[in-house]
Amino acid sequence: MVYSEKMPNTSLQRSGTGDLRRLRQRMCEALRARGIVQESVLQAMRSVPRHLFVPQALQWQAYEDNSLPIGYGQTISRPYTVALMSQLLNVERGMRVLEIGTGSGYQAAVLSAMGCYVFSIERLREIYVKTQALLRRLGFESIHLQRGDGTLGFPQAAPFDRIIVTAGGPEIPEPLVSQLDDQGILLIPVGRRQRRQEIVRLTKIRGSLHEEHLGTTTFVNLVGSYGWENTAM
Ligand code: SAH
Repeated sequence: MVYSEKMPNTSLQRSGTGDLRRLRQRMCEALRARGIVQESVLQAMRSVPRHLFVPQALQWQAYEDNSLPIGYGQTISRPYTVALMSQLLNVERGMRVLEIGTGSGYQAAVLSAMGCYVFSIERLREIYVKTQALLRRLGFESIHLQRGDGTLGFPQAAPFDRIIVTAGGPEIPEPLVSQLDDQGILLIPVGRRQRRQEIVRLTKIRGSLHEEHLGTTTFVNLVGSYGWENTAM
């Protein structure tokens, strides 16, 4: 994959690509110390240049464990959350993965770097257009981006081996469950609006569903037919 680490007019640019690689390395060591043990996750996060997925003025913070604003009231999730969700998703190379909530495109890029065929849906046109351009520029041509309400899934490309929702909803959207393949896994933060959510993992085994609750997290709202009503924008 071809990454351009060119960053005009930033202090990170002056620090050079070797330093950026070291910062990513350090971020991954911290993730490992916090329980991220899946090598494929760590390797992908060592390779994807997170600083290019955040606004230029915030690039110096890109390798700290924080979520950062990406405009339009949305955020890029903190590295630990991306690592944890990627690990809980239990992906293998070659799997077809649907992501709901493209945002910055970072989670999609990490899954793509793990060898998955990624389909990702974003509701907000401005974010979709910007992220589409970024992913093309960074060489992630195989990620298929779609604009729309991801709570309806992506029936044209179903079924999926894995579905990951990176925004918090009130319930598990039924269309996503039906677009999950047998042995498939669906990961979604569920909880009350603007609050901490419970990470729910659903596994489909010969038509029946096995549900696990795997800790709490905080995501922006999932807005859509099977999500929250749109009040902000
Ligand atoms: N995975 C992203 C997280 C972005 S925040 C990242 O790595 O940066 C969640 C995103 O979900 C926001 O961009 C928001 O606009 C989007 N979103 C919210 N509801 C959605 C829906 N129903 N369908 C698709 N995208 C949605």
